[in-house]
Amino acid sequence: MKKRQISIIEVFERFGTEEKCIEHFEKIRWPEGLCCIRCGSVRVFKFEGEGKTHKVRYLYECVDCKYQYSVTTGTVFHNSHLPLTKWFLAIYMICSAKKGVAAKQLQRELNVSYKTAWYMAHRVRLAMQEDDAFCQKFSGIVEVDETYIGGIKRGRRGRGGANKTPIVGMRERTSGKIRLKAVENVSSTTLKRFIRTHAKPGSHVHTDEYTSYIWLDSSEFTHSAVKHAQTYVDGDIHTNGVENVWSLFKRGITGVFHKVSAKYLPLYLNEFEFRFNHRDDFDLMDRVLETSF
Ligand SMILES: [Zn+2]
Repeated sequence: MKKRQISIIEVFERFGTEEKCIEHFEKIRWPEGLCCIRCGSVRVFKFEGEGKTHKVRYLYECVDCKYQYSVTTGTVFHNSHLPLTKWFLAIYMICSAKKGVAAKQLQRELNVSYKTAWYMAHRVRLAMQEDDAFCQKFSGIVEVDETYIGGIKRGRRGRGGANKTPIVGMRERTSGKIRLKAVENVSSTTLKRFIRTHAKPGSHVHTDEYTSYIWLDSSEFTHSAVKHAQTYVDGDIHTNGVENVWSLFKRGITGVFHKVSAKYLPLYLNEFEFRFNHRDDFDLMDRVLETSF
């Protein structure tokens, strides 16, 4: 469950030269093999080009439309004289730092100007934004559950209670990936919107017996409710996966959240979700590269 931390030595071994970075970026950008970014043709030549600087540079030329481009053309790394080795290191630093990296630190570690460091950090953050195309809807068995964060007393009248912020979570059984969202309430309208946003029609939704999920039984999803009153888990009908996420999240946030207003909760949730859904920092780095073009 714990995410593997990678060391700067591992990053150096994997991405220490310009050729290694280009090769890796090519695999991410064109997993099926080189293809033209303008017309999609797979008839593409690769050759070593003359860069303005001394860095290694490859160009690709499309046989069909004659378009010439490099691995960074059309990406957030385009139009920069910086080698990819520095970009990759910047991405690693930003992905692996829990509280983010100051431009000053990038400047020092990467040996670039402050202006360049600021520009790089800005570009990497642009690429780090989760876009809708990447956030594909979950399918198969998805567990959905809610929890409450904040407040001093446990909600005695069932769900919620004063000063508590509800959070809904969904976990895809096969991939183990999660989606979390802080919500105003846990009405059936709210839950319906959340489930429809994140699960494909036809998904098998596992929830507890809460009445806000009753609509699921007569809608586009199949639904199984866990009977929490029973001691035994009924076969594979359970929400244990998402419940484990709650305990992990609460452990991380305990001692912090009582000082933080509820409006910052979405930020915590985003960061938690982003890190949870990626196995290690290399995975996280690839994710940034994937969203850069
Ligand atoms: Zn072309």
